[in-house]
Amino acid sequence: MDMNRREAALIGGAAALSAMAPGQAAGAPAPLYPADAWHQRMKRVVHINFNERDADRVDVEAWADYLAACRAEVTFLSGTNVVAFYPTAIKEVPVSRWLNGRDLFGECVAAAKKRGIRVMGRFSIDIAKSALAETHPEWFCRTEDGKLVRRSLVGSPDDPGVSDEFAPTCQFTSYYTDVVPRLFREVLAWYPIDGIYSNGWPSPEVVVCYCPVCRKIGDPHGEAYRDAFQKRAVALWKSYTALTAEKRLVFTGNLGGGFRGGDLDLAELAEIAPWFMADNQGRGNVGAPAWDATQQARIGRAIMRDRPVDAITASYEISGDVRWRNVSGNPAEVKSRMHQTLLAGGTVHFHWLGFQQGFVEDRRWQAIGREVLGWQAKHDAHFHNKASIADVALVVSQRSNRLYQAPAGTDTLDAVEGMYQLLAEARMPFDVVLERDLADPARLKRYTCLVLPNVALMRDAEIAGIKAYVAGGGSLIATFETGLYDENGKERADTPFAAMFGMRRTGPREAFGRGAVPPRRGPFPGSPAYQRIERDHPLTRSFADTRWIQGSSCRVPIAGDGPPILTHVAQYPWYPPEGVYSRQPHTDIPTVVARERGRSRLVYFAEDLDGGYWRSGANDLGDLILNALRWTVPEPPLTIAGEGLIEAAAWVTEPGYAVHLVNHTHAGFRANAARALPTLREQQVRLVLPDDRRIARASLLRAETSLPVRQTGRVVEFTVPSLADYEVAALEL
Ligand SMILES: [Zn+2]
Repeated sequence: MDMNRREAALIGGAAALSAMAPGQAAGAPAPLYPADAWHQRMKRVVHINFNERDADRVDVEAWADYLAACRAEVTFLSGTNVVAFYPTAIKEVPVSRWLNGRDLFGECVAAAKKRGIRVMGRFSIDIAKSALAETHPEWFCRTEDGKLVRRSLVGSPDDPGVSDEFAPTCQFTSYYTDVVPRLFREVLAWYPIDGIYSNGWPSPEVVVCYCPVCRKIGDPHGEAYRDAFQKRAVALWKSYTALTAEKRLVFTGNLGGGFRGGDLDLAELAEIAPWFMADNQGRGNVGAPAWDATQQARIGRAIMRDRPVDAITASYEISGDVRWRNVSGNPAEVKSRMHQTLLAGGTVHFHWLGFQQGFVEDRRWQAIGREVLGWQAKHDAHFHNKASIADVALVVSQRSNRLYQAPAGTDTLDAVEGMYQLLAEARMPFDVVLERDLADPARLKRYTCLVLPNVALMRDAEIAGIKAYVAGGGSLIATFETGLYDENGKERADTPFAAMFGMRRTGPREAFGRGAVPPRRGPFPGSPAYQRIERDHPLTRSFADTRWIQGSSCRVPIAGDGPPILTHVAQYPWYPPEGVYSRQPHTDIPTVVARERGRSRLVYFAEDLDGGYWRSGANDLGDLILNALRWTVPEPPLTIAGEGLIEAAAWVTEPGYAVHLVNHTHAGFRANAARALPTLREQQVRLVLPDDRRIARASLLRAETSLPVRQTGRVVEFTVPSLADYEVAALEL
């Protein structure tokens, strides 16, 4: 194999990893993944899992022809070690009962390679046949009373879908340092594959285990166990990376977890991963927003610091825990997830389970893959992004999500979900940044406005970074308890931004609704307060014909410098009607402070307006934040006038620029799968280029028509005549 300079650099980095023992301290050199490596440029992955019964049924040519029809660049191929799909020599790994001596894995590798498609061998190392516990009881996760764990197998005990055939393996055991490496070495020696993927491992959540090894570590619910779990995952990942790097190949495990995140700090794994492997296949919670896939790709991009995010879209039906994994999902939803991945700059990873059910019984999903991926391949150049065009940074704190104690009846994600929706409503292009980025001035300085949706937990360095950002002219919107706790969740004496905002905290947070949660009703937003408009200000100017507007359920009591804009009117009963009036309709307690300091515009909402908006959809809460966004970002680089709920993004691409629009206008956008989307009328787009280069030609990639544009200096304007589900305006230099 010829090796270019960049590949040599990769091997150099990998060699350093090879020399490391598992568990070697962080700070070791990470492998370099050159920007022009295949895995840094892949945009289309098609992946069909085989089940054990498939082993003698797979028509390899039909499978490979389908991958080729989707213009797949990469496939993930079941090698697995629950059962092997090739005649393994490793005696501990059972082969499929239907394999009958066949080398299905080898046949598939050959068929894919013949079509120029790369192969990632896929191995489910998180789970094994329970029967193996008879000869190797030490490899399996255990409950407190010593039984095999059933964690990975959903359903109630009387559910016919539950099987005791499989059981989770424990990553602290020799299974991961003995069997798994032997398995990987075997397939790497036998087959010309391009890398290895460990399905289901590492778990983003700590796997509670009471096996003998874990009992020595300590309480599996404790922080010490979490730390050990993280260290072990990183050490194993490094050892598998080193093992594959010996063959100049790549290794990746499972990541994902969406905005909420899990127990693991994925940033540490992302440093050594070739790409972010986002195994978030569909809306995993009933009530999740339609933009679930964009959120996953955005947080992955933030964690990877702009390196690739491979986001899985299931072609079968997912509705929370209700899953029909062998029949096609709603096409509008499946397509939207692929479009969302592209909007957010990700790699589309189209996924199906089973051959018999997928190539024989239900083939409807196949057309979706051919259509979307075939189209993307035709226009591939426009999906290779160099930088986003966004001047708002939405801060997502997976640490706060894990450790913050939200008021009763609310969820730690309410605020960021509400803010995300309002950014979409405002059609403002934005990037997601992590809380750790707040301590990195170089990372923040490109943004006009930082949005901190109740980012409650912060390190001192992150607070200092925010202050430096504001001192440098940056604008800011913060809500509720932002910065009130240190990184361990310990409450600070005052908000660290008191002087910056010109206010001080006067008491502990107030949250209502705690005692009013009716049984079996689920989260209750609590009794809301009201707000009284005290003076004219850009934040309140949209409210005509009223002095009172809605407030939220939770607030931090504050006092502010200068005359208030809005004041607090406390909660009072909404029944009986005769008693529905405020006994104290006018206070001097501010609910918002807003300041201008040079170019910098600062807004602090003492109430959880964003969280309250997410829970209630209350107009005034949403409008207040929209007003704040428009005041702090008076000239966004992308504006889109038109009807509907759409998500927008703009990119500097290799050929020029691209504007992506995804239509989310659907009554079920916060319920479950969309069945159809209404076609929106014209959208008028104004894009301010980051430089003054001249657009030579433009086109709409979905409509496949040329696009008339008007350019005045850096400002480019055009009209998208209609928007069905997705459109990309490609502007070329
Ligand atoms: Zn264990």
